Amino acid sequence: MWQEINKPKMATEKGASRVLTLLGQLERLNEDPKASDTDATRQITGKILHLIQTQEKTRKEMVSKGSSGMEVILSFLENTRDLQTTMNILSILNELLTVGGGRRTGVFVSKGGTAILLQLLVSSSKDIPLNEELMLHVHSLLVKVGPKDRKFGVKARLNGALNVTVNLVKRNLQNHKLLLPCVQVLRVYSGNLVNAVSLGKSGALELMFEIIGPFSKKNTTLLKAALDTLAALLKSKMNARRALDRGYMSTVLTIYQDWHRNDKRHRHMIIRKSILGCIKNFTNIKLGRKAFIDANGMRILYNASTECLPVRTLDPLVNTSSLIMRKCFPKNRLPLPTIKSVYQHALPHIPAGGPVAQLYSQPPGVDDVVDESDENEATEVDTENDTENEDDETDHKTQNDDIETDINKLLPRQMQTRPFDELRVYERFCLEFTRDFEDNDFESHGSVMPPTSVEPDLHCPLIIPTMLASISPQNSHPQNIQPPRSNHSPLELDSISISKTLECKHNPDLVCSLGLLVLDGGVSVNGGSGGGPQEETRDQAEIEVPDTAALLPLHDPDLYLEMVKGTRSVPAYTEVAYPDYFGHVALNLHEPILERVNGVQSRTKIFQDIERLIHPSDILDKVVYDLDMSCPILDNGESLKFNSKFESGNLRKAIQVRKCEYDLILNSDINSNHYHQWFYFEVGSMRPGVRYRFNIINCEKSNSQFNYGMQVLMYSVQEAISGSPQWVRTGSDICYYKNHFSRSSIAAGGQRGKSYFTMTFTVTFQHKDDVCYFAYHYPYTYSMLKMHLQKLSALRTAEIYYRQDELCETLGGNSCPLLTITAMPESRSNEHISQFRSRPVVFLSSRVHPGETNSSWVMKGSLEFLMSCSPQAQHLRESYIFKIIPMLNPDGVINGNHRCSLSGEDLNRQWQNPNEGLHPTIYHAKSLLQYLRATGRTPLVFCDYHGHSRKKNVFMYGCSIKETVWQTNVNTSNCDIHEDLGYRTLPKLLSLMAPAFSLSSCSFVVERSKEATARVVVWREIGVQRSYTMESTLCGFDQGKYKGLQIGTKELEEMGAQFCVGLLRLRGFTDPLELHNSHLEDIENDLVDPCSIPNITSSTTHLLEEDEPVFLEEVDYSAESNDENEPDLQDNHVLPDPSSDSELSRQDSLT
Ligand SMILES: [Zn+2]
Repeated sequence: MWQEINKPKMATEKGASRVLTLLGQLERLNEDPKASDTDATRQITGKILHLIQTQEKTRKEMVSKGSSGMEVILSFLENTRDLQTTMNILSILNELLTVGGGRRTGVFVSKGGTAILLQLLVSSSKDIPLNEELMLHVHSLLVKVGPKDRKFGVKARLNGALNVTVNLVKRNLQNHKLLLPCVQVLRVYSGNLVNAVSLGKSGALELMFEIIGPFSKKNTTLLKAALDTLAALLKSKMNARRALDRGYMSTVLTIYQDWHRNDKRHRHMIIRKSILGCIKNFTNIKLGRKAFIDANGMRILYNASTECLPVRTLDPLVNTSSLIMRKCFPKNRLPLPTIKSVYQHALPHIPAGGPVAQLYSQPPGVDDVVDESDENEATEVDTENDTENEDDETDHKTQNDDIETDINKLLPRQMQTRPFDELRVYERFCLEFTRDFEDNDFESHGSVMPPTSVEPDLHCPLIIPTMLASISPQNSHPQNIQPPRSNHSPLELDSISISKTLECKHNPDLVCSLGLLVLDGGVSVNGGSGGGPQEETRDQAEIEVPDTAALLPLHDPDLYLEMVKGTRSVPAYTEVAYPDYFGHVALNLHEPILERVNGVQSRTKIFQDIERLIHPSDILDKVVYDLDMSCPILDNGESLKFNSKFESGNLRKAIQVRKCEYDLILNSDINSNHYHQWFYFEVGSMRPGVRYRFNIINCEKSNSQFNYGMQVLMYSVQEAISGSPQWVRTGSDICYYKNHFSRSSIAAGGQRGKSYFTMTFTVTFQHKDDVCYFAYHYPYTYSMLKMHLQKLSALRTAEIYYRQDELCETLGGNSCPLLTITAMPESRSNEHISQFRSRPVVFLSSRVHPGETNSSWVMKGSLEFLMSCSPQAQHLRESYIFKIIPMLNPDGVINGNHRCSLSGEDLNRQWQNPNEGLHPTIYHAKSLLQYLRATGRTPLVFCDYHGHSRKKNVFMYGCSIKETVWQTNVNTSNCDIHEDLGYRTLPKLLSLMAPAFSLSSCSFVVERSKEATARVVVWREIGVQRSYTMESTLCGFDQGKYKGLQIGTKELEEMGAQFCVGLLRLRGFTDPLELHNSHLEDIENDLVDPCSIPNITSSTTHLLEEDEPVFLEEVDYSAESNDENEPDLQDNHVLPDPSSDSELSRQDSLT
């Protein structure tokens, strides 16, 4: 009868499938409950089961597209009251879902199978007696289905299934056959945090501890399931506390030890990993970390891990152990009296608000190194919701939050600038526009000098003489305008004794190529780590100096010393570092980006750190250098000597931890309590051939290019003397990781429970009696700039117009140079003078951030190109008038700051409202730009050179309203803006010619956090359309000709020169006389093709992400603490399901 009804459906296939026929019969039965015949249904389902068990074809047919097989089966399962039929159907489903993977389960879930199973579970749990076989079947199916159903946790809870399973486990602890699927289902339930809390209350934790036991080769699957369930339950803080109260931490540790000891052939690594997973989740809360320490967990995991280290396959155990130990490592106090800079500089006035005001309002005697309240349990919420991979820099935030969406803030600012009368004083920086040229201007060396008889005004131009007359720059600072700080008398280098730390080594091969420079006994080049026993030889001090002057046209050691004399530092430095004195010769050696196996090196280093706690007696803890201590440190000859008391130096303290290992602490920027990144220090008294480990322990950034192949820079004086005066990339085992030194909330911008990071590197010195220097990047001091400017001014020819003014004096009493470079007019004829004065202005600046020394090297490249005699350079000078401020922050550079000026502020965040007293260089640079605008000479291009610590290559940021608007979801129809695409021309040209430059890294999106930067303010307020920041990597390249190499000064200087060539080519696009040059037009079309815009826009998105992938261990770490907002469980039928699909599937994949 049934066959007849279904015959038409099957008619197309010969020998129609038997199973479809049976399903049809079943469907019919279901449609007509009255016709229900228990025997028939048993028989049919039994036949289907048989077919399914024997034929894969049948299984396929059941779930093939268009088949209603699954629906029929499920519908029958839902409706039938017959046990035998139910069991048959469960068996059918079991067969179906066991093979064929996720797709069949997906069909099951999509047809509502989960809920039907759960309802069946709950309803049959009321049967007396309980049918164990049925329970086994249902749970086995739930184990398969649960991980594939993203709503499984909620469904199970809403159907009331949780307690059914818990009760089953309770009653069947010895019945392993039923126990296993039940525990497995519990594990899936507890992937949902609400469920975990509920299960914890129902006693699931205790149940798991009844199952988990010492090493045994039996029932490992059950054990694994119980451990994974426990780990999932412990993600709830409430459960973790409950378990800790019962003393389960030491139980778990004992179990781990037991398995570690007995699992000799590592057959059960996966179980050991699961045990660690429980410990890891315990230690998410403070109580757990304490319990771990109290239960001797550090030593247990350390010892076990050390034994695991030689076995590669046990890496996962070592990594997880390391993670747990790092989390539990007791937080240490940074060994400093204060985190404020060791150097003091009183400000003319304190800003009304902001971090500096806070710093000054801090009551005396407050310990800013640690928070008292850190140990307070009340802060636990803060510390434990710590996501651990927060971003430290403002421009690192989620891009969409930071993109400027207020269209009014993107449009030119129609502001009343200062009255022209106030700006008129800036005319003296633009004499080329106003002053008549005299005949003698065109004679020897075209010395276009401003009038020399200027009254001693604060802003009087500093005149650098044409000849290298030995004029002390101090003369330009008359006594009556000494800055307020001058407690220190000016440097008297002549009175300083020489401290010779080098033995003269005459290498006959090199002496001929390197000149022999003999220092008279009057000048100290470096302090030899504070003098010492060598001083007795001072009178005969004779140092063989590499004649870098011959190799470096802009370098002259003697001139450098002259320059140093006029440089005013807050610490009143009296020493000069050898590298700055000798100079740095960039050779053609390309240093590849270091390849490192992420995680492995850092693991070894981290274990060494953990050993400090395990074997405290091995730790020397000997302070060998300390700027906070006024008395000299006693030296027994067993330690390295450190020194940082020279221009741009930064090292606050050095502590010998072990025989060949030193912890180093960097100094904060002056008038600030953080910003440590830049370092520059000297090391002496080393033994050659020994591996020394250095750890900079108060780094702040959450990640660093040091984790991605960047190396530190080292300068060996012995190498310099033997013919290689140069900074080289050095160091092995370099890594960067979070350490156990806690950061006070004051230092962490109000956030509690933060830690510092360690940057560690290992160096083997080659020479005995060497003096070596280490730096974050190629140093470039203010004195070096002055020396270079002197040398450059000497390069001027009759064709070159070069003038150096003093833009202003800095807070520290140093001069901020302003250069004007262009070509002399061909003659005094009106036509030539008129051409001269109609040249567009290009405004360049650099080094507003002292730690970005690379920007100075780029600037050096630009300046050298501009002063060169090549036809291109002459053409460029004839095309533009250059206004250049090569160092916007001389004080920061001199005093070894990383980010700020002496005012303790980031000067590149002050452009909106610079304060004349606190930010003089920015105030006057902006005023000069306002003057230029007011006189109709708005610059064609503005570019501020910077360095980038997180990205590779060289690239530019610019400003575009359209590209900003496109990045937001703002309805663009209401802002019909016409925007000239000219801002894209220069970056595009640079990408075509400069191998270091990467167009895809460029961005033209205006971010809110950048609204007070030079680039954005000059764009909006001065109206410079081509207003840029050019960022050069501190690390290296991942594209172009230099791909895979670390950056060096050669590449930086080349970039500076190529920037100039780019400007020359830009002239072709902007000069009306050249615009219709046909071959340029092609490029122009290419450049401004609107179709290409989306490409740039999308690359913008890429840019805002970082080059640095997220630190692997950090990911793991942060994944721990996701259980904030844990719902307080009452009866929560309406609570959302916090567990996500991905969490479930991740859990699943762990099994
Ligand atoms: Zn910068």
